[in-house]
Amino acid sequence: MEQTVEEKLKALYELQTIHTKIDRIRQVRGELPMEVADLEDDVAGLETRIQKIKAELDDLEDDIVTRKNLIKDSQANIKKYETQLNEVKNNREYDAISKEIEIQGLDIQVSEKKIREFGFEIATKTQVYEKALADLEARKSDLDAKKEELGTITSETQKEESELTAQAETATKGIDGRLLIAYNRLRKNAKNGLAVVTIQRDSCSGCFNQIPPQRQSDIRQRKKIIVCEHCGRILVDEQMAMEAETA
Ligand SMILES: [Zn+2]
Repeated sequence: MEQTVEEKLKALYELQTIHTKIDRIRQVRGELPMEVADLEDDVAGLETRIQKIKAELDDLEDDIVTRKNLIKDSQANIKKYETQLNEVKNNREYDAISKEIEIQGLDIQVSEKKIREFGFEIATKTQVYEKALADLEARKSDLDAKKEELGTITSETQKEESELTAQAETATKGIDGRLLIAYNRLRKNAKNGLAVVTIQRDSCSGCFNQIPPQRQSDIRQRKKIIVCEHCGRILVDEQMAMEAETA
């Protein structure tokens, strides 16, 4: 038996409702794996950064040790020269040794300055290091939470999704072939997957453009299939949403 336009519209709206539920499930789940992957990248990036800073800190500590050893060497040299000063034979020798002591003294000053600089660098880098460690901990706990969420959602929604898919298949059978092709094409082309939309606040709830009063009243008559002049979606009246909910 030939369906009335009203029956066709109801069947289309029902199919749309089921498809929208499936879309929502996929959307929620769809973003999670990406978020998990992003967090995994963040964690790996931070770990690399932390290793790099740690290596730089180790190098600075090594530089300080090297400078401290240089100072010890210079101090030993100074001691040696001072002993030699007591045994000099002439002024020329005295001047030469004094000059050596002076040079060693200057070397010590340079090393002490370097040690202070390295110390300052260590203090600054340590702050950066600690900040990166804290960031890493935060990202890791976000990652754990997201992974858990993904696992839960996947197991929870799989059953619901397969039930809805079965419902959609049944609903599809009640729709005339040409109308179904139009519906599928509209759904495919619409960003939000909506092919059948209701009037909401005098507008198309697919594109939010105003629907003229005469057109709205035609839609409410349910005698013709009417599409939005702006987006081409099939329009149904607000009442149909309520009827579908109570059905
Ligand atoms: Zn529209």
